[in-house]
Amino acid sequence: MTSRRDFLRRTVASGIAAAIVHPVAGASQTAGANGLAGRIAQTVLGPLDASKLGFTLAHEHIADGPDFHLPKWPKPWGGRAAFTAKAVEKLKLVRAAGISTIADLTPYDVGRDIRFLQEISRKSGLAMIASTGQRFFPPVSHVAMPARTIEGLADYFVKEIKQGIDGTVIKAGVIKIGIAAKTPTPLEETGLRAAARAGKATGAPLRIHTHAADRAGVSLAIILENEGIDPARISFDHSDDSGDMDYFLGLVQRGYSLGMDHVHRGLSPNFKPSFEHRVECIKRLIDAGFADKIFLSQDSEFGGSLLPEEAKEWRDKIDPPEGMLFVPRKLIPHLRRIGVSDHGIHTMTVENPRRFFSLS
Ligand SMILES: [Zn+2]
Repeated sequence: MTSRRDFLRRTVASGIAAAIVHPVAGASQTAGANGLAGRIAQTVLGPLDASKLGFTLAHEHIADGPDFHLPKWPKPWGGRAAFTAKAVEKLKLVRAAGISTIADLTPYDVGRDIRFLQEISRKSGLAMIASTGQRFFPPVSHVAMPARTIEGLADYFVKEIKQGIDGTVIKAGVIKIGIAAKTPTPLEETGLRAAARAGKATGAPLRIHTHAADRAGVSLAIILENEGIDPARISFDHSDDSGDMDYFLGLVQRGYSLGMDHVHRGLSPNFKPSFEHRVECIKRLIDAGFADKIFLSQDSEFGGSLLPEEAKEWRDKIDPPEGMLFVPRKLIPHLRRIGVSDHGIHTMTVENPRRFFSLS
C-alpha cells in the first residue's frame, strides 16, 4: 500500500493522476490489482465477495434512536411490521440511487436489532454490514454487560464476529467504538482496547466515533498503537468536525482513515466548521494523495426520521433532509464542482470500503 500511495502522491503532484490511475469501472479487475481478489466482507446475509460491495456508505444507522425510546422498540416506530415496510420503501430509493451497501454502526447498546437488519436488507436489495462494539456514552442504564473487562469485551466482540449476534448466525463485519470526548473514560478505553484485540483476532476493521474538534484521534492512536493494531484497519469517524488539515495529515500519514460523515452539519449555522471548509479539506487531502484514506457517509439515523413527532426533533436538527441520499445528491456533485475527479470519488466510495471491510 505504501508504494501505491507514494505512486499516487507523485502522480497527483504532476497533475496527470486522472489519466493513468486505475479505471473507474472494472471492480473485480481493480480488486485483483489491489491484492483483494477472493476477500470477503461479512454482511447480514452472509459473506460477500468484497468486490461486490459497490458504492458503500461506511457510517450510518438504521433503527437506533434516543435512549428513552430504545427500550420501547418497536412501538414508537409504529410497530415492527409498519416500520419494516417504511424502511424497505426508503431503502429501495437509496438502492435506486446507486448505493449498494450500508455499514450500520449501531452496536447492541443503542438499539441494534439484527433480525430486523437482515429482513430489510433482504427486502430492499441493499447489502448491510452490522457492527459489534460499544457506544458507552452516556452510561446506558438498561444495558448490563456481564464483564466489562478488556478480555470480557473482546471475547464478546469476537463472538459476534465469529459466531453470530443475539442467538442468530448473523455475524458482525465491523467493530464500532464510541469515544465521546478528547480522551477516553476508563470504560471507553477498556472498550477501545477490547476492540483492537478483537480486530486483531478476527481481521474485522474498527470504526471509532471521535470528537474530532478536540483532535481526539491523536490520543486514541497512542492507545491503538500500544495494542499493536495496524492503523490501516482503523477509521476515525466524524473527522470533518475538526477542519484542521494538520490533524488530518498527521493521522493519514500514520496510516489511519478518516470518516467524513458530518459534512452536511456544516450547512447549519449551529455547526462549525462550515460545509465549504469541510469539503475543501476533503479536496486538499485528495490533492495530497490521500483519497485512499477517506470515507464519505452522513451518520444519519434512519429510524430517527420515522419516529413520532415528539421524539423526531432529536435527529431532525442534525440529519440532512435528503437522509442517506445526501452523499450522492449533494456532497458528490459539490466535490465534482470543486475539481474532485471521478477516480477520487470512486476511490472514496467503492475502493476504500472494499479494502477496509474485507476481513483481513
Ligand atoms: Zn454514528
